[in-house]
Amino acid sequence: MKINVLHAGYCTAPEHIAIHGGRWRTIRFPAMFALFRHPTFGAMLFDTGYSYRFFDETKKFPARMYRWTTPVTLHEEDLAVNQLSAFDLHPKDISHVFISHFHADHITALPDFPAARFVYLPHAFGHLRHLPPSEDMKNAFLRGLIPLDFDSRSHEVDISKPVLLAEEYAPFQTGYDLLGDQSLIGVELPGHAYGQMGLFARDDDGKLFFFVADAAWLKQSIVENRPPHKVANLLFPDPEAYRETLGHLHTYHLAHPETHVVPSHCEATIRELEK
Ligand SMILES: [Zn+2]
Repeated sequence: MKINVLHAGYCTAPEHIAIHGGRWRTIRFPAMFALFRHPTFGAMLFDTGYSYRFFDETKKFPARMYRWTTPVTLHEEDLAVNQLSAFDLHPKDISHVFISHFHADHITALPDFPAARFVYLPHAFGHLRHLPPSEDMKNAFLRGLIPLDFDSRSHEVDISKPVLLAEEYAPFQTGYDLLGDQSLIGVELPGHAYGQMGLFARDDDGKLFFFVADAAWLKQSIVENRPPHKVANLLFPDPEAYRETLGHLHTYHLAHPETHVVPSHCEATIRELEK
């Protein structure tokens, strides 16, 4: 399998919120997505980054607050659909989109991939499905981003069938063999959002990637086991679980510094892998 780390647009936010003790300056948070080219399953994505739908869906109050708190910059050539041609791919070639969680910056381009199956942990969408619209903002959820045929194209991960992970993945003990060939192992990373799913993926060169979505905003948080500012706890459904997950990522990183651990919004990590 070939793996490419890419991003579609970025937002800006204060560094000292993203990491405890961070500087009082605004930094960029790219919206990462990954492209997998698998010999059997073809082209697949992990998340989608931003699309222009973000602006459509945040025109009106209260969703407009989303724009104010995380101002987004997005250029035409940054869109995931427009980056596929560099790989000789068309939007309809994307067979699966693995969704880490349903925050807008991860799902805004879902409607751009007409043939994709959507794969995610059931509880990631389960709690949003019946949410009153007044609760959307609190959950960083823009319901207009969900494609109309979402349900018929959804393949929720069967959480009744976890696989035991080998010792090399410790302290992560169980995961989900998403394609049945062990090429993509989904791992629940609780705390930041309901049912957040990270992904272990190995490329043709034997390099292991661990896409950890928003379990940490910056790689430095994982390396130093340093959480965000306390105020960020207001954004998390389970701050205690967030802290525990970050601890696990720290332990994993110390044991396996050779693995590319990729937080979805860490500019330094993403730029390095995009080279
Ligand atoms: Zn998020």
